Amino acid sequence: MKCDSTLYRAAPPSLAVKPRLIRHLFLPPLIIALMIGLGYIGFWVSEHYGIRSLSENGQRQLELHARAVESEISKYTYLPSLLELESSVSRLLADPSPELRQTVNEYLEGLNRRSRSRAIYVMDTTGRVLATSNWRDVDSYLGEDLSFRAYFQNAVRGQPGRFYGIGSTSGEPGYYLAHGLEEHGKIIGVAVVKVRLEAMEERWQRARLEAFVSDENGIIILSSDPARRLKSVVPLSDDTKERLARSLQYYWYPLNELQPLAREKLAEGEEKLTFPANSELMSDEENISYLSQTRPLSDTPWNFTLLTPLQDLRREAINQGILVAVAFALVAFLLIAWNERRKVIATRLAAREALQEANNQLERRITERTTDLRASNERLKGQIRERRQAEETLRRAQDELVQAGKLAAIGQMSTSIAHELNQPLAALRTLSGNTVRFLERGQLDVASTNLKTINELIDRMGRITASLRSFARRGDDKGQASLGKAVEAALQLLGSRMESAHLQLHRDFADVQVQIDQTRLEQILVNLIGNALDAMQSQPQPALWLEGEEFDGKYRLRVRDNGHGIDAEARKHLFEPFFTTKPGEQGLGLGLTLSASLAAATGGHLGVEHPASGGTTFVLSLPLVSPTPAEPI
Ligand code: ADP
Repeated sequence: MKCDSTLYRAAPPSLAVKPRLIRHLFLPPLIIALMIGLGYIGFWVSEHYGIRSLSENGQRQLELHARAVESEISKYTYLPSLLELESSVSRLLADPSPELRQTVNEYLEGLNRRSRSRAIYVMDTTGRVLATSNWRDVDSYLGEDLSFRAYFQNAVRGQPGRFYGIGSTSGEPGYYLAHGLEEHGKIIGVAVVKVRLEAMEERWQRARLEAFVSDENGIIILSSDPARRLKSVVPLSDDTKERLARSLQYYWYPLNELQPLAREKLAEGEEKLTFPANSELMSDEENISYLSQTRPLSDTPWNFTLLTPLQDLRREAINQGILVAVAFALVAFLLIAWNERRKVIATRLAAREALQEANNQLERRITERTTDLRASNERLKGQIRERRQAEETLRRAQDELVQAGKLAAIGQMSTSIAHELNQPLAALRTLSGNTVRFLERGQLDVASTNLKTINELIDRMGRITASLRSFARRGDDKGQASLGKAVEAALQLLGSRMESAHLQLHRDFADVQVQIDQTRLEQILVNLIGNALDAMQSQPQPALWLEGEEFDGKYRLRVRDNGHGIDAEARKHLFEPFFTTKPGEQGLGLGLTLSASLAAATGGHLGVEHPASGGTTFVLSLPLVSPTPAEPI
């Protein structure tokens, strides 16, 4: 099948390879880059919205806990001012006698116990402690000069003294609330309440809250995490550090900075803080981030800060990022797969269309060729019919010719047949007459001998007529013949002529089976031998050679005579019908023609040779029925 090559023509290599190469080189890195980018965006968006949600929630928490801190602090705001109402206190300040001091000490002790504060004490305007609730303790403030304390300095000027610090005597942190005690519009002393706020820290810890309170200096004074306590949330200058050290507000504690790894301002009062993993604050191995929300506490210069850990959020955001990246990878993979499949389908469709087109073309050509073939077939059939008719006509003509030839031969032979039959008839007549006479005389033995001779003569006559009948019978192209029997029959038919010619017969052939009708073979042989006899009429020593040989699946019989031979002119027309050199009624010129056509009809051949020694050789080749297999070389 020859297909149209244009249907399958590939794109030029440079055009076909380039985009595919580019795709293969750049697509995977592009997908990976997009995966990372989208993953990061997913992470960022998730973290951003997560922080916003945490922030909203944190604001509520911040408000709640800041208010709790405010209420805790404000509980004690009015306590020092209440001492103004106590006459013993004002009397002590006016006249500090030991009795009064003791009275006030006991009063303060009782008041302290009831208010659950840490200590309550009264100072004169010089800052000396005149009476205190902890007068019984070893580390009592009694008689101490606390004029350096900022809360005293504020209160003695008539301003509220708010102060968080570490007790210089006890080393214990506390919240100091100081109030200038007035009498007749003049400050006569200062009342101080020291409160411990650690209860709040414990409450935060129980609630697993991370929070701290930083004071006006930015120092963390209260923290759910003890490690953060007394750390500064803002950078402290050297001057500030020195000032704070001098004030002993924080005793001798080193005021280290709370140093986050990263600090990111999100909004007013909102920051994202990251602390290092190996920070002393962290037990974890990871860096830890917090959402830090700060709000000032009313009535104080302090700030309340709520820390919300962001690990869970971060983990969630990482998961979201990974999810987005994986989802993208999946979508990209599906898109690529879909695209590849689409291309495969397109290629298949194109191939199918091309195939269909080629098929259609092929079918069209087949149809055209079939039409041509059918037409030529019809022509051929017509020709075959014509040939058959011609063959039939020819065969019929041939049969007629054969028959005519036979009849002619019979006509020719009739004289000799009549002679042949007349002789025995005459002999029979004589013999039968003699036999009658011998019977009458009673010479039975002679009569019996005569009768035997009569029988032999009748047999001979029967044989003559039988061969004549078989010669005249119509044969056909198929059949088998025995060469030996055919030669015998022919010789018998020509027996009388042979006898009268005193012929020398040489036989050198095998009795093979050849593919020809027996009668036809006899007919051919009668013609050939008859012609030889005619040619040898004037030959004093006529001789006939019948020599046979097997050659190439055929049997070749040479009929050679030493007659007058055939002249050059006669050789040209030998096998032409009605060519004869015989005078008068002797020759019809059909013998060789018929013999050659009978031999050819069975696939054989009749040819002639003219030996240099004289005479003529007719070569009859006929196909063997079962040829001897060729000798292997
Ligand atoms: P016919 O015998 O009736 O003449 P044939 O076709 O048998 O017709 O022979 C044609 C001619 O071929 C003969 O007339 C004769 O001249 C020649 N011919 C045939 N056989 C021989 C032969 N063996 N030797 C010489 N001439 C022959």
